[in-house]
Amino acid sequence: MVQVQTFVFNPFSENTYLLYDETGEAIIIDPGCYDRSEVNELTDFVQQHGLKPVQIVNTHAHIDHVLGVAALKRKYGIPFVLHKLDEPLLKAVKTYASNYGFSAFEEPEIDGFIKEGETIEFGNTSLKIIFVPGHAPGHVALVNDAEKFVIGGDVLFRMSIGRTDLPGGDHTTLLRSIRKEMFTLPDDYTVYAGHMEPTTIGFEKRNNPFFK
Ligand SMILES: [Zn+2]
Ligand SMILES: [Zn+2]
Repeated sequence: MVQVQTFVFNPFSENTYLLYDETGEAIIIDPGCYDRSEVNELTDFVQQHGLKPVQIVNTHAHIDHVLGVAALKRKYGIPFVLHKLDEPLLKAVKTYASNYGFSAFEEPEIDGFIKEGETIEFGNTSLKIIFVPGHAPGHVALVNDAEKFVIGGDVLFRMSIGRTDLPGGDHTTLLRSIRKEMFTLPDDYTVYAGHMEPTTIGFEKRNNPFFK
């Protein structure tokens, strides 16, 4: 059974997710750890639980979600993948990182691209990739049917949605992505978002003010 461990990192209070199962294999999603104590918090957890990270996967490439990629790639010698349409966003991070106070940001090398319809596999666990652009042009979410959850990134939040005023954002596209790809998931699926606490598909269909 897959476990979802949440870490809250960097001044944006970004949720980094470590997923692992009974085999001990793990994947790291959206590593936002920046300073040494944040990186250690994640790597200490991995060590204490005897886990073996095998891949870093990003839902999208905004700065708060990629701050820890390079350090963790180096630590574990594992590949980093994201959707091709977010490559320009990743390349842009170094141009504005110091404006946000992250002058030590190191741009990670991309090892491969993922796209909708494919699956991410580790241990006995499988995650379906869905394409949910709008907050970012190459934004994906990862769905686990066995345990009924989706790692949603910055698409759908509890009573809110992702902002679309950043480069590459588009409000109409975001609303369409949520209706077409998220709200067609079963109501009891948990949404682990890129910020704030988890929610469920059913709760957001009933209560999210952007869909009244
Ligand atoms: Zn974002
Ligand atoms: Zn974010």
